[in-house]
Order: sequence, then C-alpha cells, then structure tokens
Amino acid sequence: MSVSIFDIFTVGIGPSSSHTVGPMKAAKSFIEYLIQLKLFDDIDKIKCDFYGSLALTGKGHGTDKAFLLGIQGYDPETIDSDQIEHIISDTIKLKKLKLSFKEHSKEVPFVVKNDLKFNRRISLPHHPNGMAFAAFDKNNNELYRKIYYSIGGGFVLEEAEIDTSNVINSHLQHVKYPYQSAAELLEQCRKNNFKISEVVFQNELIWRDETQIKTDLLKFWKIMQDCVRRGFVNEGILPGGLKVPRRAPHVYKQLLNNPEKNLMDSLSVLDWVNLYALAVNEENAAGGQVITAPTNGAAGIIPAVLHYYSRFCPQANDQGVIDFLLTAGAIAILYKTNASISGAEVGCQGEVGVACSMAAAALCEVLGGTTLQVENAAEIAMEHNLGLTCDPIGGLVQIPCIERNAMGAIKAINAARMALRGDGTHYVSLDKVIATMKQTGRDMKKQYKETSKGGLAVNIVEC
Ligand code: SF4
Repeated sequence: MSVSIFDIFTVGIGPSSSHTVGPMKAAKSFIEYLIQLKLFDDIDKIKCDFYGSLALTGKGHGTDKAFLLGIQGYDPETIDSDQIEHIISDTIKLKKLKLSFKEHSKEVPFVVKNDLKFNRRISLPHHPNGMAFAAFDKNNNELYRKIYYSIGGGFVLEEAEIDTSNVINSHLQHVKYPYQSAAELLEQCRKNNFKISEVVFQNELIWRDETQIKTDLLKFWKIMQDCVRRGFVNEGILPGGLKVPRRAPHVYKQLLNNPEKNLMDSLSVLDWVNLYALAVNEENAAGGQVITAPTNGAAGIIPAVLHYYSRFCPQANDQGVIDFLLTAGAIAILYKTNASISGAEVGCQGEVGVACSMAAAALCEVLGGTTLQVENAAEIAMEHNLGLTCDPIGGLVQIPCIERNAMGAIKAINAARMALRGDGTHYVSLDKVIATMKQTGRDMKKQYKETSKGGLAVNIVEC
C-alpha cells in the first residue's frame, strides 16, 4: 500500500470512515478476491463477524449496513446516497444478498440476525477494528475466510499487511522526495528550495500527471463545497435515536438575516467557520457524502478552514486551494505513518486532533508561512489536542463529534495565526508531538477509544 494524498482524501459516505467506509470497501474486496480465485460460482452462503470497536459501536456507526452494501458490490464513491436505505431494507426483508460484480452476479440467502454478528467481547490481535468474512459452498464447506482491519480514514488492510512498516517502506521506495518524519520533510524543503506543498506535489507525480492532480484536488474542493451547501439547507433530526436536531440551517439563516449587524461584530467570522463545520458533520451524521479528511468523524475541519481561506482571505485562489490540500495531505501522511488516524486506536486526538493539525499547517502555508512556521502550526494544533478521547454517545458520530469539528476548525485557524506571528522556532517539534500523541493513545484506557464505554457515552443518559 502506498501513501498518496489521494489515499488520505477520498469520497466517503457517513457517518464513519473506519466503521462505515472501511467495512464497505473490505466487503466489496472480499467478493472481488473470490472472483479472482474463481470461487464466485460456488458461493452459497456468506457470514460476517465484527470485533472490537467495530462490534461495540458498529450499530451506531452503520457498520452492518456498510457491509450489506459493500458485499453486494456498492462502493462509497459511486453509490447514490438516496438509494442506501432502500437497498438495506430490501436486503433485510428479502433475506438475500444480490452479489453484483460486473459480469458476475447471483443471489445468496442472508439473514442478518444469523449471518452477521457483532462480537462485542472479542478483539482481534492487530487492531481494534477487526472483521472476518467467510464464504461457504452448498454443502456448507468453507470456501474462503479472510480477516480485514479498518485502520482509520477508510484504509483497509488484510491480515498480512497490518504491519504499518509496510506503509512507510512502500512510501519511501516510490516517491521522488521521500520523507518519514517532519524533520526529513523540512530537510527536503530546505535542500530543494520547496514549500511543503511542492514536495507533496512532486511526489504525487509518480501516480498522476500534473493536470490530473490539480483536477482531482479541485474536484474534492467542489465536493466539500456541495456538502457544506447541503448542510446549510437540510433541516430535521439526525438519525440514530438521540433526536439531535440539525443546527446548521438555523445558524445559516441567522447569519444571512442580519448581515449588517454581523459586520459590527469582528468575530462573526468565527460563526461562519463554526457553521461550515456543523454543516459538513451534520451531513456526515445523516449518512451523506463527505471527503474523508483524514476521517469521516473529523471531516468538517478541513472544509471549514478551507472555506475560511476561500471566503475571508483576500489572497485566496484555486492554486491556494490546491496548495492547502497538498500541505494538509503531507501532515496527514506523517501522522498515518508514525502514529495513527484511528479513533479506535488512539482516541479522538487521532481524528479531530490530526485534522486540526493538517488544517493549521495548510492555512499557514497558503497565508505565506515559511516551512518552519507551517511545521510550527501543525505542532501547536496537535499539542493542544493531546489526550482527546473518543466517547461518542450511543456510538453515533454526533455528540461530541459535530461540535468538536467546529472547535477543531477554530483551533486550527488560531494555531496558524500564532505560528505566523513567530519566526518558526519553537520548543516542541512536530515529530515529538506526533510521537507523544501515539504514546498518549497507547496509554489511554480502552473505554476512551471508540467503544462508547467511557466518558460522555456513559455519563449522559440516552432518552
Ligand atoms: S469522538 Fe472523535 S474519534 Fe470519536 S467518533 Fe467522534 S469524531 Fe470520531
């Protein structure tokens, strides 16, 4: 597996990249693998088991639904989100999976309550987000069984790939300007007289040409803007049973109704930044389309800060948007290869904390920061997210997740501004803070890592 920024930014459906997008991709790839092995025609039955965090919060995160979609051939990027509920209810009612993979298609019986299990007391050895799929022939002989791990941000690894050193090594092998740490990234910038975004851009050229990179990044920006626009107008109660009302449409109307009054308040820009983040994360909670950045739970921070750049910073232009996403991607790669972007592994510091750090660095660069200031911005943003736990109420990506993205976006802007006021020198390096985040995640009790067994998830009574 290579780490390209196009592995970091992907089109996903809500509410969770690790618990929805990852299992959906894994289920699809399981059938594709059976096709490769020429076992498709023999499939008569399929069983699915979820373990660890996927089992504990899978219901609230729609993990079961994601499996039903992926195993039938749907993928997060192309599925029509309006059709999702219909496909799921049909599958459950008819007790059948319609496996549909280009020229390969068939129906097999599937009774959700018998064939899909959340094993809440069992964790697989390599990662909290483990799952196993098995296919059987008509004599009930097991044709194939495969274990997958959803390691955050929609990344899925098979058991043999789970050693993260594979990720680092393959990244180092391929790209023109390799870096494994922030120090090496800064050294590449210094040696080549590059900005951070230029290092990433040059590295991406081994996968895509220049035009494609720019087009694809601007496409992500458009999807982010569409998501924000939908969040502005989609009213109602979020699904899942907590009865959380969407706030973004109300805030949007408030801000539009009193433009002059808002101008008198120099901090009204913060209301807009909050609004952008709320809009994205409410869409995500409702199962809508978002860009994982670096995860779905934290998908509001990058779009909120990028909207801030595009709407409130006079120097903003398309090239700035591209550089913003390239720089954010560089920072995400550092966390992905040296720590984790999975809430189930290191708590919310790995999701909202990482998104905040990415956004801070990216904003700092497009506002003219030096590479040292950009590294400083990323470090400040993570330093003040260290220890952030993951304790979603009811296992839903709603409370505290939605508001937390708004807070993360504001913190990112502040981190960028603080870094821009300095000269780049600082006490704690980004590498040190990344290592600290990893260590803190390791020390964090299990109940604070996407299990809904600690924190707000147990201190707030669901009604
Ligand atoms: S608390 Fe943070 S890590 Fe946990 S589900 Fe919410 S956004 Fe993701």
